[in-house]
Amino acid sequence: MAELPVQRIRVAVEAPQHSGLSGPLDYLSERALAPGSLVRVPLGRRELMGIVWPGEPDGGAEAAALRPILAELDGLPPLSASWCQLVEFAASYYQRSIGELALAVLPPQLRELDNTQLRARLKKLGKFLASPAEAQGSAPEAEEAPAGRPTLSPAQQQVLDELDALLDAARNSAPAPVLLYGITGSGKTEVYLRAAEHALAQGRQVLVLVPEINLTPQLEARFAERFGGSAASGGAAHRIVSLHSALTPAQRLRNWLAAHLGEADLVLGTRLAVFASMPRLGLIVVDEEHDPSYKQQDGARYSARDLAIYRAHQEKIPVILGSATPSLESWQRANEGRYKRLLLPGRIGGGALPRVRLFDMKRMPLSKGVTTALTTPLLDALRLRLERGEQSLIFLNRRGYAPVLHCAECNWKSDCPHCSAWRVFHKGDRTLRCHHCGFTERVPSACPSCGNQDIAPLGRGTERLEEQLQEQLPGARVLRIDADSTKHKGELEAQLAAVHSGEVDILVGTQMVTKGHDFRRITLVAAVNPDGALFSSDFRAPERLFALLMQAGGRAGRDAEAAARSEMWVQTWHPEHALYQALKQHDFEAFAKSQLAERESAGLPPFAHLALLRAEGRTVEAAQGFLKAAAAFAQAMPEAQGCLVYPAIPMSVARVANVERMQMLVEAGSRGALQRLLWHWMPELHALKREHKGLLRWALDVDPLAI
Ligand code: ADP
Ligand code: ZN
Ligand code: ZN
Repeated sequence: MAELPVQRIRVAVEAPQHSGLSGPLDYLSERALAPGSLVRVPLGRRELMGIVWPGEPDGGAEAAALRPILAELDGLPPLSASWCQLVEFAASYYQRSIGELALAVLPPQLRELDNTQLRARLKKLGKFLASPAEAQGSAPEAEEAPAGRPTLSPAQQQVLDELDALLDAARNSAPAPVLLYGITGSGKTEVYLRAAEHALAQGRQVLVLVPEINLTPQLEARFAERFGGSAASGGAAHRIVSLHSALTPAQRLRNWLAAHLGEADLVLGTRLAVFASMPRLGLIVVDEEHDPSYKQQDGARYSARDLAIYRAHQEKIPVILGSATPSLESWQRANEGRYKRLLLPGRIGGGALPRVRLFDMKRMPLSKGVTTALTTPLLDALRLRLERGEQSLIFLNRRGYAPVLHCAECNWKSDCPHCSAWRVFHKGDRTLRCHHCGFTERVPSACPSCGNQDIAPLGRGTERLEEQLQEQLPGARVLRIDADSTKHKGELEAQLAAVHSGEVDILVGTQMVTKGHDFRRITLVAAVNPDGALFSSDFRAPERLFALLMQAGGRAGRDAEAAARSEMWVQTWHPEHALYQALKQHDFEAFAKSQLAERESAGLPPFAHLALLRAEGRTVEAAQGFLKAAAAFAQAMPEAQGCLVYPAIPMSVARVANVERMQMLVEAGSRGALQRLLWHWMPELHALKREHKGLLRWALDVDPLAI
């Protein structure tokens, strides 16, 4: 009998990086398989999903040593070459294995399917697609009735004209990324909608990224209103799907398939959606591009914003980054002319930004019942809003009742036995809770160390502020929104709805409430304890604070009529600080300029490129030993030219759940230099790990957000 011709096929499988299997593996197949096809292959004793990967097989091993591909998932078109290229770039840039990343960014259910199951899924999808777009369920009604497309403001028209010109000029090359810079309410979303309309009219798909899952329904409603087949969209229905981690696995698979098959025209999602397979992709929008949630914080620590830019470049399509407070990285690239900056200068309908007032805490009169958060002038301002039937928002970026409990007799403090951190006092359920490891105990009735009955909370979180507001302003309807008040599904939606419908007078919250939500009745926003970020060791802390405060302020005065009397209050011990002075003028540009000057002189991003090597061990010595050995290795490498390896230091919370955490910063003048070092260094680190007993984990973070 004649033997079947057998060929080598390169397959990306989910082999963890530390296994040392970094590239795709060779398998045998009796037939040729298109790159991007999904297959089932054996690996060790397991059978798992793999992706036939573009490129030449490795060819190293003897054919006899290779194992056969078990099955092909034949009901799906292959993933595109450009999708594979995006994954390959991300894997290489963030130093992960291709297979690990490629499989990790697919919907988890897809990885488990065989052909029979896939066919069942596709049948279900067919039914879903046959249903009218409005029947997609969950998207809430947009706030106002669809009034058709608004006439563009002159500034919006100009932005869109410039966008057109940019596309014309680019022709067959990639247009420069667009940085759409405009305050909250300046009409950025309308620009996204028009740009999307343009792409859809050409038969292309549109990807819209948002930082928070909570913001997707709101945006989805606006896109659905415009493109979902209503009168405003001219009757042409486009399918809109969302992709984020709060979907059920089945929904996520269904929406992914709709995008992959080209059936969904618009995909709205959080950072993981940057990897959505979209064969007709024609536009990417990254809303609130400065938001830290675009950076994945574990596993492959990728930046969805940066990958969106790569993806757009590679597919030669436009990408729009929108923000009122762009990241200094993007701002600097626009300064250098690498991004095209387009400006929307004012609020639509003339709504003004709230007047910013800085209150110097050093001069604040303190009287009975008045605290450093609820000062006399602030209480007066809140009373005034109550009388006028307007809403106020108080922003305090610390949840819980108090950050620590303290015994004045013996100086005991509620530290966490497992972490180098305090346990936070939560009064609602009478617990001491560690926000790092989760260790929770009931609040002791007396000091555990000396028995003193009089242990007291130090400092203030949102819970305590809420309580104090209720004491000071009896009758006011106070609502707190933070991670504790919104733990259960549906709670946040219900709470936001209460604010919108006017059932709330005073909203207290962490940064959760500053983002995106369009509260129309708020005329006072107060930040009561924002100074911490000014003196943080994290060089990005001021940038984040500025964005948060601008964003918080943007919650006020969205209603043009109320805008005139809207105010943003900042209670600070440092009113003279340049950050607050710039905030007072709503002057992001001045703030960016001063920050960039500081960054440049300190050799920090965007003028330098960083990677952070983190090590976790049972002991400090184990973590430190590994990093020291890694540093010694780097210093001896010729490829480390142009890079600086700093000494290892403990992380800001050095011990979490009894694990010691150290980090070491690597700095380079260029991306190229940094990548060269990492490429030669990483394989050595995998080998080095084995020599360090007591080392639990190590991880590399390229372009870390916080150092
Ligand atoms: P941003 O995304 O910058 O916050 P939006 O696009 O949401 O701004 O616009 C703010 C408000 O103004 C929204 O209620 C929007 O419907 C409305 N709007 C936007 N553009 C126009 C326009 N050209 N004419 C009338 N209203 C507009
Ligand atoms: Zn004590
Ligand atoms: Zn702890």
